[in-house]
Amino acid sequence: MSVNKDIFEPDRSFNYDLQTENRTFIEWHEADRVPDKLVDTHCAFCGVQCGMYLKVADGHVIGVEPRDYPHNLGSLCPKGVVAYQQVEHPDRLRYPMMRRNGRSSPLERVSWDEALDHVTSRWRAIQAEHGNDAVAVYSGSSMTNEKCYLAGKFARVGLRTRHVDYNGRLCMSSSAAAYAAAFGIDRAPLPMPDIELSDCIVVDGTNVAECFPIVMQWIWRARDRGARLIVIDPRETPIARTADIWLAVRPGYDIAIVNAMLRHVIHTGRTDDAYIAERTAGWDAVREAVEPYTPEMAERVAGIPAERLLAAAELYARAKAPLILHGKGIEHSTHGVDNCQALINLALARGMVGKPGAGTMMLTGQGNGQGGREVGQKAAQLPGYRHIDVPEDREYIAGVWGIPEAELPGEGAAATEMVHLMASGEIKSCMIMCSNLMVSLPDNAVVQRALEQLEPLVVIDFFMSQTAELADVVLPGTVWCEDEGTTTNLEGRVIRIKSAAAPPGEARTDWEIMCAIADRMGRGAFFPFRTAREIFDELRVASKGGHADYYGITWEKIDAQQGVFWPCPTLDHPGTPRLFTERFAHPDGRARMRPIAHQPPAEEPSEDYPFRLTSGRVVYHYLSGNQTRRIGFLFEQAPEPWVEIHPRAAEPLGIHDQDRVRVRTPRGSMELKALVVPTVRPDTIFIPFHYSHEQSVNQLTNPAVEPGVKIPEYKVCAAAVERLDVAPATGGAAVENLTAENRPAMFPYTVGETKAAAKPQRSAS
Ligand code: SF4
Repeated sequence: MSVNKDIFEPDRSFNYDLQTENRTFIEWHEADRVPDKLVDTHCAFCGVQCGMYLKVADGHVIGVEPRDYPHNLGSLCPKGVVAYQQVEHPDRLRYPMMRRNGRSSPLERVSWDEALDHVTSRWRAIQAEHGNDAVAVYSGSSMTNEKCYLAGKFARVGLRTRHVDYNGRLCMSSSAAAYAAAFGIDRAPLPMPDIELSDCIVVDGTNVAECFPIVMQWIWRARDRGARLIVIDPRETPIARTADIWLAVRPGYDIAIVNAMLRHVIHTGRTDDAYIAERTAGWDAVREAVEPYTPEMAERVAGIPAERLLAAAELYARAKAPLILHGKGIEHSTHGVDNCQALINLALARGMVGKPGAGTMMLTGQGNGQGGREVGQKAAQLPGYRHIDVPEDREYIAGVWGIPEAELPGEGAAATEMVHLMASGEIKSCMIMCSNLMVSLPDNAVVQRALEQLEPLVVIDFFMSQTAELADVVLPGTVWCEDEGTTTNLEGRVIRIKSAAAPPGEARTDWEIMCAIADRMGRGAFFPFRTAREIFDELRVASKGGHADYYGITWEKIDAQQGVFWPCPTLDHPGTPRLFTERFAHPDGRARMRPIAHQPPAEEPSEDYPFRLTSGRVVYHYLSGNQTRRIGFLFEQAPEPWVEIHPRAAEPLGIHDQDRVRVRTPRGSMELKALVVPTVRPDTIFIPFHYSHEQSVNQLTNPAVEPGVKIPEYKVCAAAVERLDVAPATGGAAVENLTAENRPAMFPYTVGETKAAAKPQRSAS
């Protein structure tokens, strides 16, 4: 892929006026500066983690070159080629800030000593009065493994609280739980190049072309070799447009389709009976459970034509190496774990899991979503995928950390539950790292009320965010390429992130901040780290013998092998790209099948709310958009959200393309532009989720969660749409709380100004 020849000059490229918040983007050409080195690292904007070189001149990151790595083959997507522009972005947080006189006072610059002294004195007082668990840590998965590992240890050893969880709870917890239950290990069983070996690819609930553009090249390669493509999605996404068969499922009803496909496999004699007998358990109950799922029943439940379903089932049943790729579309559900298990049942019945190019593969969205969930920052988990309730696991980790086992706290609240504990006063203070939960949690009016109860709310981030706006203390952290470390991509490949620049101003790496706080809490002896590598070496030992065993992985081995797949139990072990070739990770070596029945979503349409609202990504933005909306090129492509509505649904409502409309759900309403398109089911509307404040779709989404893993049902709730005949209202609770002092620098328009007027203008000069 050719490289963007524009470069970003931090001190000249933005004419940034804090009074008017007008921005002028000025283009500079690469000829202005010549890099003096290339730093080999990876893009941090999604779970693919493409290899890239950062171009560095005089210590400044000035551009990017693609890097040939086994899974991205020298390609980068539109986000990857401009990711470097956030490094020296003028909005970067450069020094600690604090509200000196309570919530109504502005955030003002303070020294690190003042900020950390305030935080730790408050935490000591809170814990003395209310117990250790009154302070919580809410972490993120867009950080290196070293930082994620340290977040779990920091909470449990530094603060001695049981309440630590992370934002991966909101994306991958359904598939993680399903894979762990079925296979004994939560990891994609295959490396990405295996996709090319499949002769029939089923894509369920993932908009691959926009969410994982670089994965598409492996799908194209398989297509070039003759592979068939089936897409299950309520929207005709770019990949659905190229499919042999698109099944436009009613949101939330994928199980009916998958069970009907399995029934067809059984009725046409395409099960692998020897594989089922030797390598699985639970088949009889599954076979019986899918029998009622005739094509006609699937048509009634899932809203897709029976003959189209049969055609898809036949393609899958006769394929030699069928592969199922799945993502958030089925995971963001109150039955997300069941959705994944239904797909696993289908693949196991055909005997495909553990074979090259076949089986199932989850597509992890967040940058280090895979590693972040393995290294011990989940509420119930210890490093190496050990469980916090298992005595021998507790004993081992307590030994590594040098504390008595009895001092290791038990399971804490899941991320989605923490909000309720904050609202009830059980959690009195929280440190949030690298997470923007005001945008990413559902029903965010409730989230705001919960965060406002905290004192102090401490946020570590590198940009202001809608969450940081509410903080009492904001501590400046680092972007991915200002530190050394490792991440684990969606294949389970552990890779190296290398430092290309120093942190700006007084910013510090997140792990240094945690060590400094632990020291002030009197726990510094447990956090003696001077480098990220020292943390990785402790993580290796902590993971040793666990499912996610990193012990044999060294930074040198990663460099020499272009990544190392865990498990890698010894220093002379090469790593494990393909899992389950001989046996599954349960003690008896068998995969678990489980009968799955379809269930309705938690909230169905009604007379007042006749549509199903679903939300998702666009190619130009990452997660809450707090990073990508600051990069001019990406912002300009998708500066504001929209709602997609089918022409047959729009017509009786008098809605035309580009009209302003109001979308309402039982939790709130928002106003936005309508896109009248035939690429969405007529009973469904779609809004992208990368926007904040009154543009956030999570004002509307349902906070109902999957009962086991507590993942919210982002992908479907009941909604109404109406045309706005008057100028759109401005404001909203979060916006009204902004003042001239605390308004975040990135907020793309002033309060009361229309979004159209606020669009950044490109300068000709
Ligand atoms: Fe970055 Fe993901 Fe795009 Fe690769 S596919 S360049 S990792 S955002």
